[in-house]
Amino acid sequence: MTSHTCDYHMHSTASDGALSPTELLTLAAERGLTEIALTDHDTFAGLEEARAAAQARGIRLLDGMEFSCVWSGMTIHLVALWLQGLNEGAQQVADVQEKARWRRAELIAEKLQKAGYPIALQQAIDKAGGHVPGRPHFAACLVEAGHFSDESQAFRKLLGSGKLCDVKNHWLPLTESVALLNAAGAVVIMAHPLRYKLTLSKRLRLLDTFTEAGGWGVEVVSGLQDTQQTASMLKYAETRQLVPSWGSDFHKSITNCYHPGHFSALPDACQPLSRYCQA
Ligand code: AMP
Ligand code: MN
Ligand code: MN
Ligand code: MN
Repeated sequence: MTSHTCDYHMHSTASDGALSPTELLTLAAERGLTEIALTDHDTFAGLEEARAAAQARGIRLLDGMEFSCVWSGMTIHLVALWLQGLNEGAQQVADVQEKARWRRAELIAEKLQKAGYPIALQQAIDKAGGHVPGRPHFAACLVEAGHFSDESQAFRKLLGSGKLCDVKNHWLPLTESVALLNAAGAVVIMAHPLRYKLTLSKRLRLLDTFTEAGGWGVEVVSGLQDTQQTASMLKYAETRQLVPSWGSDFHKSITNCYHPGHFSALPDACQPLSRYCQA
């Protein structure tokens, strides 16, 4: 096993991915992955199916979730990994988040209605395959109804951060979230720190706050990025003694660029995270 056959950030149809957990594991096996985490947004709904599929394909599966929280008025994503397996506390965390997601879905549907885009909540639920719909599912409904040419336009005009139909400050604060996840037995990794629209000094402040709150790791590589970005991220991780993690953040294979296990070159400091698992 090399680090490049490990991917700790991927989505399935249990949140906003295009592939079912089984399909995802099939593709991961085809692409030679040996160790992965399924990190659907705020849910464990895909894990049971993924576990069976991983076992059948000889892939080690870490139990994960991409947890939504708020810092400085913006949504921040945390990759939580239960390295010793899920426990009751983990399920409580998922219950809190799923409830918050259902409430947010209702609020988004109301906002869309008021803004003149009558997308019924049920339409979005159907798009999400019966799971709780997120913004990408509403975006897909808006495109289907002919309001926008593609999903990213729907985000730019309506659903993106700060836009008319975005629900602001809906999630728990970052510090509280890290504490909650730690208490529930998870290690917490800052997801894609380069993706937030922040100045360098604020990005470093985010990492400092996260570290002080009990953060464990940081994604030094997320999908494709340049080597300078990787070097900087590694330095920020090392100065804070954060474990370097990485992942493709795979949702769907829209172009040749998006696949499980597809990300920029990893520095040597990136070592498989299963070494932190007890068994
Ligand atoms: P949610 O968790 O419901 O707030 O949705 C966030 C998800 O929407 C992200 O994880 C991405 O998968 C997707 N997303 C965010 N911004 C965009 C965008 N500009 N265009 C398309 N998808 C996006
Ligand atoms: Mn997503
Ligand atoms: Mn994310
Ligand atoms: Mn993600």
